[in-house]
Amino acid sequence: MFWPLSRRTLLLSSAAVALAPQATASGVPVRPVPIEAVRLKPSLYLDAVRSNLAYLHGLEPDRLLHNFRVHAGLAPKGEVYGGWESDTIAGHTLGHYLSACALMHAQTGDEECKRRVAYIVDELAACQAPDGYVAGFTRKRGETVEDGKLLFAELVQGDIRVLPFDLNGCWVPLYNFHKTFAGLFDAERFCGNARARNVALGLAGFIDGVFSKLDDAQVQKILDCEHGGLNESFAELHARTGDARWRALSERLYHRKVLVPLAEQRDELQDLHANTQIPKLIGLARLYEVSGEGRHAAAARFFWETVTRDHSYVIGGHGDREYFQPSRTISKYVTEQTCESCNSYNMLKLTRHLYQWRPDAAYFDYYERAHVNHILAQHDPNTSMFTYMMPLMTGSRREFSTPQNDFWCCMGTGMESHSKHGDSIWWESGDTLFVNLFVPSIVRWRGSTLDLDTSYPLSENVTISVGGRARRFALALRLPGWCENPRLSVNGKPATISRSRGYAVVERTWKRGDTVALTLPMALRTEPTPDDPRMVAQLKGPVVMAKVAEEASLVPFFQQYDRAAEVYFKTCTPEELAAAEREKADARALDARALDIARLGDEADEAAHGLASKISYAVVYRGRKGRDARTGGFFEFTMKSGTDPLVLNAAYSGDDKRRLFHILVDGEPVATQALEAESRGGFIERNYPIPEPLTRGKTTLRIRFAPEPGHSAGPVFGCRLLRV
Ligand SMILES: [Zn+2]
Repeated sequence: MFWPLSRRTLLLSSAAVALAPQATASGVPVRPVPIEAVRLKPSLYLDAVRSNLAYLHGLEPDRLLHNFRVHAGLAPKGEVYGGWESDTIAGHTLGHYLSACALMHAQTGDEECKRRVAYIVDELAACQAPDGYVAGFTRKRGETVEDGKLLFAELVQGDIRVLPFDLNGCWVPLYNFHKTFAGLFDAERFCGNARARNVALGLAGFIDGVFSKLDDAQVQKILDCEHGGLNESFAELHARTGDARWRALSERLYHRKVLVPLAEQRDELQDLHANTQIPKLIGLARLYEVSGEGRHAAAARFFWETVTRDHSYVIGGHGDREYFQPSRTISKYVTEQTCESCNSYNMLKLTRHLYQWRPDAAYFDYYERAHVNHILAQHDPNTSMFTYMMPLMTGSRREFSTPQNDFWCCMGTGMESHSKHGDSIWWESGDTLFVNLFVPSIVRWRGSTLDLDTSYPLSENVTISVGGRARRFALALRLPGWCENPRLSVNGKPATISRSRGYAVVERTWKRGDTVALTLPMALRTEPTPDDPRMVAQLKGPVVMAKVAEEASLVPFFQQYDRAAEVYFKTCTPEELAAAEREKADARALDARALDIARLGDEADEAAHGLASKISYAVVYRGRKGRDARTGGFFEFTMKSGTDPLVLNAAYSGDDKRRLFHILVDGEPVATQALEAESRGGFIERNYPIPEPLTRGKTTLRIRFAPEPGHSAGPVFGCRLLRV
């Protein structure tokens, strides 16, 4: 299991620990070879990086900086972008963009990206207030949009208004700060930008000033709003500066409600927003590395093990409609809303931490699974665009972003992911060079160069050629857990594999021209969901395979950018097939009886029913269209009526919870409905009798769904008006 840090390491001063990579059992640190020393060779990974580079060059830093300048009282130099950049979360993309450009420079040497990093850091310094504040987000008070900074004056007065994604009228301001910090740290780390540290220190001082005026209960209340990995920012700042002030702040930003159960090894993840949690655990992992606090490592490890084992789909992603579902229920949640892309980006980061504490190849079995089947799938190298969700339901297709009018979170993390495909391939520990990912690349390492050539994951042969001066070292090649009979040869001669923690280790004096060939035979195999052995996915080596209508044989899922694909295959019993048929027949019978049917979420049908709405969205879930209304909003429509006693029949998802809303007919309330996930994995229907006086003499009725303040209504997946 877990390898604790040695007592000796713990006795070092905190600053020294902060800067020291973690020790393996042999006492030698393991760390990734710096990305600057790795260059990608022609491959689908390099295609992704080049495509992303073109997109990064196409974005205009001045437009991403728009709000930063406006709130600093400076004239903006570019128009604000659309999508989330025009909402109260404005500015979140800048931090991602800074990270992406810094990583891209390190990965490719692109000077334009480095120039942009320097420009943005200079602009942030120019926008930074004397108290250290610098941000681009806004907040809403009623219909008024104002500078997000105003909310901090309210917080220190004890005026704290928290929803899961809203703090005093602003969409996740602390999450936004975390992105800015990450961008500044990457600017310093990958571009040697010293000014970035000063901007980060100024902003950290402002945030510390706010929290220092709050008691612990108030801090916990604020942490109930999504805050990214702000605890990571301060652990990292401590690691870089050695200043205990930042470590103390990182410890204080410990969200007890979520982290205490994990520290106590309890899975209470059900119904939590998944990507809100992962960065908190990355923060704890970093905090453990700088403090040696074992309970933080235990929580991070338990979370990782629980998520990868009990909550993950075959592609390594997790979450349905962004939330954790009940443990081990994957087979019931294969929908078009699976696997938010940010989550896998963050799980890969967490995996890197855990691997450094215990370099076991099994961590990279997971890493590779998510990297190949989710990260590569979320970015179309032909268009440079990104997906938010990765739909796994049969027949569903990926929806890609637009270049300038979305700027979702997953675009931000996507820009980073596809700037660093050279990361984590090569790792080093003393005189051992680890190969953890088979990504075509060349690495310069201590006077040696190693070329890795392969078409993996689409082929099973990997060749490594050694160059540089003759030198003795060990080459440790990861043997994937799925591979039963790997073969190895050195300079054309078959070599016996000595396995150690999932690696084939070859130690010798390497000379220029030496080659190692690794063959990883890939047989097609099936993998059941954790909860239903009859529901399986198929894999070939690390690649999840899919069925598409246009092809006779299975094809790699990740490459089906614009084709509907089938990933999960289920064998049903005759009873299950009969039950499904009965359900369809019942629905058809109800349709036949209906005076009218309102197909909410269907644009043409909604228009035909005279839909009117406010703060309301069309949705699709499990193949059914629907419509919701958020707090302060509504939707209403007209249905054909009759003179008989009538009931309104409405369909909801059996998974929806914390919903409370009112149903009105011609302005009169007829029912109040709460939804509390009564029937997970399917749909439910509810009937509302309409009092006879409301229908008397009428040929139409106006139906309205309106949420109770602070709640949502629906989504409603269709309404029927029926005779009793
Ligand atoms: Zn996202």
